[in-house]
Amino acid sequence: MESLFCPGCKGDLENRPSFVVCKKCGITHEIKNGAIFFIKDRENSFRNLGNKDSLIFKVKGCLKKHPKLFLFLLALRAPIIGKTAKEFIRDLHSDALVLNVGSGVQFIGQNVINVDYYPFPGVSVVADAYNLPFKDGSVDAVIAESLLEHVVWPEKIIAGFRRVLKPGGLVYIVTPFIFGFHSSPDDYYRWTTSGLRELLSGFKEKEAGVLVGPTSAVTAILGEWLATLFSFNIKSLYQFWALFFMAVSIPINLLDWVLGRLKLASSIASAIYFIGEKIDVHDKTV
Ligand SMILES: [Zn+2]
Repeated sequence: MESLFCPGCKGDLENRPSFVVCKKCGITHEIKNGAIFFIKDRENSFRNLGNKDSLIFKVKGCLKKHPKLFLFLLALRAPIIGKTAKEFIRDLHSDALVLNVGSGVQFIGQNVINVDYYPFPGVSVVADAYNLPFKDGSVDAVIAESLLEHVVWPEKIIAGFRRVLKPGGLVYIVTPFIFGFHSSPDDYYRWTTSGLRELLSGFKEKEAGVLVGPTSAVTAILGEWLATLFSFNIKSLYQFWALFFMAVSIPINLLDWVLGRLKLASSIASAIYFIGEKIDVHDKTV
């Protein structure tokens, strides 16, 4: 509560049993099932998440309502080579305040606050990533996994992270590189390691590299290519094959335990990660 503020006027918030109220502008934000809703009407959109006319979106939306199963299948699909968010927070002090922005259903640790646009199970702050309801310099670390490709202005999101972070605060960012279009609800960008470094130039790099390796990239692309070939231009057939080839590629992806660790793996990695420390941008030599 101490770190939160009113995203509209930056006023302090007061805690009431079923809502918080801004002491400055008087606006109220509902508390429901342990989550504060800084944006309204998110429950209906969450309920409709699995109802879109897309098999993959439907399966994903429904699975996200069963977090354990969803995370198990996600872990099964592609081996993780680089440092995970759980390993990242292990290096922080135990009372560090950490935000996981665009968390979905992921549970990283007790001191991690899940922030998302949708009230997934485990989300405690339902808010817009462009307008985080956290005070300037109040947070020790920010995690954002597979969030930036889904926003139209990633630079604005990063500027928001810099704002809420304390001096010397850390970011843990994951973005896809060689990966097909995936709507959640839309998909705009991809980054190379150099591109991600450039995007995060307000942070001193502590670690960066391959998170998901090249085999996972190739099987995902090939799977979707085959799905396109056998779809006969029928969307539902494409989606069936895409899910089928995704399942078939699980044992092949295990090759990444070796391939993903090679020096050149980053050239065609499926996903990359970046850990950086907030610096004063004026100190940075360009
Ligand atoms: Zn206010």
